[in-house]
Formats: sequence, C-alpha cells, structure tokens
Amino acid sequence: MPGGTLTIDLDAIAANWRALDRMSGQGVQTAAVVKADAYGLGAARVARALAQAGARRFFVALADEGVALRAALGPGPQICVLAGHMSGDTDMLGDLDLTPMLNSLDQITRHFETLPGRPFGVQLDTGMNRLGMEPAEWQAVAPIVLEARPELLMSHLACADEPGHPMNDAQLAAFHAMTDGTGVPRSLAATGGILLGPDYHFDLTRPGIGLYGGLPFADAAPAVRLSLSVVQTREVAAGETVGYGCTWTAEIPSTIATVAAGYADGLMRGLSNAATLWAGDTPCPVVGRVSMDLITVDVTHLDEVPAELDILGPMQGPDALAAAAGTIGYEVLTALGPRYRRVYAGGRA
Ligand SMILES: *Cc1c(COP(=O)(O)O)cnc(C)c1O
Repeated sequence: MPGGTLTIDLDAIAANWRALDRMSGQGVQTAAVVKADAYGLGAARVARALAQAGARRFFVALADEGVALRAALGPGPQICVLAGHMSGDTDMLGDLDLTPMLNSLDQITRHFETLPGRPFGVQLDTGMNRLGMEPAEWQAVAPIVLEARPELLMSHLACADEPGHPMNDAQLAAFHAMTDGTGVPRSLAATGGILLGPDYHFDLTRPGIGLYGGLPFADAAPAVRLSLSVVQTREVAAGETVGYGCTWTAEIPSTIATVAAGYADGLMRGLSNAATLWAGDTPCPVVGRVSMDLITVDVTHLDEVPAELDILGPMQGPDALAAAAGTIGYEVLTALGPRYRRVYAGGRA
C-alpha cells in the first residue's frame, strides 16, 4: 500500500495551457516548460496531454531530459534545451533532434563545429546574470550567429512575479536593444511575463508553473491532489507530547492520526507544527515534527477519521502549502517524492 496517492489532472493542465495560450494573444506561439519531470508531475504524461491540447514546442533544462521527452512524444514536436549545448551533449542533440538554446561563445563554437546547420536558439542575458550571452558579447558575435539563422532569441525575467518591479522594464528595454531588427522570433515571457501583458509576449511564450496550477497564475485550475494514508489513530491524554523532540503537547484529550509520508517524500520538515491537512473541507493541523516517513495530525474534531487525509487539493494548492514551509509552490511540486502512487486523471491515453 503506498503512503500517498498523487492524482494529476491532465485535463486541468491542458485547460491551464489553453488559458495561458489565449492570454499570450493571437499570432504568439505558446510553448510548455516540462523541465524537472514537468515540475514533479511526470513529463511523459504531461507533455503528451499538452501536445494533444495543441502545444508544439517544449522546453527542458537538460539534454538528458530532452532524450526522455523525445521518447515520450515521438518525432514532430520541437524540444528546446535551456542549458544549451554542453560538452557531451552533441550526440543526444543531433540524434534526437533537440534544439539547444546556446548560452555562451563556447557553446556557439561547439555547436557550429559539431552540428553545423542543425537548429539552435540563443539565450541572452538581460540582467538576471544566470544564463545567456551578455550584451557586449552578443554584439560582437551577432552578425555571424544571425547568418546561421537561429530559430529563437530568448531571455528570462528575474522579477516577473512582481508586476511593479523596475527590473521588468529594464530587462524589456535590454531585450529590445539586443534583438530589434534581427528578424528572428523572440521569447521573453514565462508564466509571470505572460501576466505582465502583451509588451512582454513577443513571438513565443514559455509558461511552466502556471500549467501546474501555481502562482503567479492565480486563476489556474488546480492540477494536483495528494492524499496521504492514515496508518494508525491514537488517543493522547492532556499533557502528553507527540513526535521527535516533544514539540507539541496536547492541551485536551486528543485524537492523533499518523499518515504515511514525510520529509523523504518532499514534505519538508519546515511543515512541522505549521501545515494543515484536510478531511474533505475540514482542516486538521499537523502537530509535532514531520519525520522521514510519517506526519502526525490532530483529528480530535472529526466525527470519523477517514482512510486518507489530503495535503494538496482544492482546499490547499502548492502555494498555500509552500507558505506554511516558508518556500514557493515550485519547490513543493518539484520535491514530490517517488514513493507516491501517481494516478493520472483525464487526458486521452
Ligand atoms: C523555468 C523556466 C521557465 C518557466 O518558468 P515558470 O515561471 O515556471 O513559468 C521559462 N523559461 C526559463 C528560461 C526557465 O528557466
């Protein structure tokens, strides 16, 4: 019996892609970012559902992820690799028709020497200082690189989830300065950038988190439910403590349910005495420390203890759970462990 069941709603993910596609506007292509195993939800199933919904271009972080994605999607959809063309990637990129987003002069040289004439894009750094070519560097090589006809010029926003942040305007201006007049398709917006409005959309948008029901796409349909099995229920007298370190003490006679998941499953220890589980729409607080495989929950107020309690679902999305642990929805999703039984709802196959 698995400790938890993770239900992934492929129809909700497809609906979120369609909504973000509509927001991207007419004439703008909407890709789908499925790096890190589609944010922990299973890249093969998620990407097939999105291809069915109409997505033609996918982004992964690494060439190795691209290999697995190609096996899931077959030939046709374009698979772009954000880490570009790293040493050792050449055969994978060439054999599986992956499109690297080249990040540096080194990568450009490697690509032109080892896979001449094969598709590529260029990632430009407009201020985030993480990946991509700096303005001066780009200016020096742009004429030669543009002659080789890149498929895409892209950059990434550092503060897109803060609409009023001056960095957004600054990066937009830098991107224009680096790409205006090139005639090459351009992409600047991830989920947050789509919400910033049409100035940020250019020719292609690249949503990730919004597909999976996370902020900053507040109107997203919930895409995940995580139900944890109750292993045992016990009565605890007033004054008794629960869990490692005795960090919670019962003030009244209490009923404690122990569920079969813990920090080894990505439910971080920071949720200790902080998170809420749900019996339907009734909240049940985590009491005591989250341990490796188990979490203890106060269910004193329930008439009947159900077989499972939800930690993610319609009552509490990834961002609400993340807030209890002092992190973000992205980290909650990508931390979801391999021990859960993954069940896919919706989709065609
Ligand atoms: C992860 C990533 C995305 C997707 O970002 P979300 O905020 O999840 O929509 C898009 N572009 C790049 C370069 C990324 O690294």
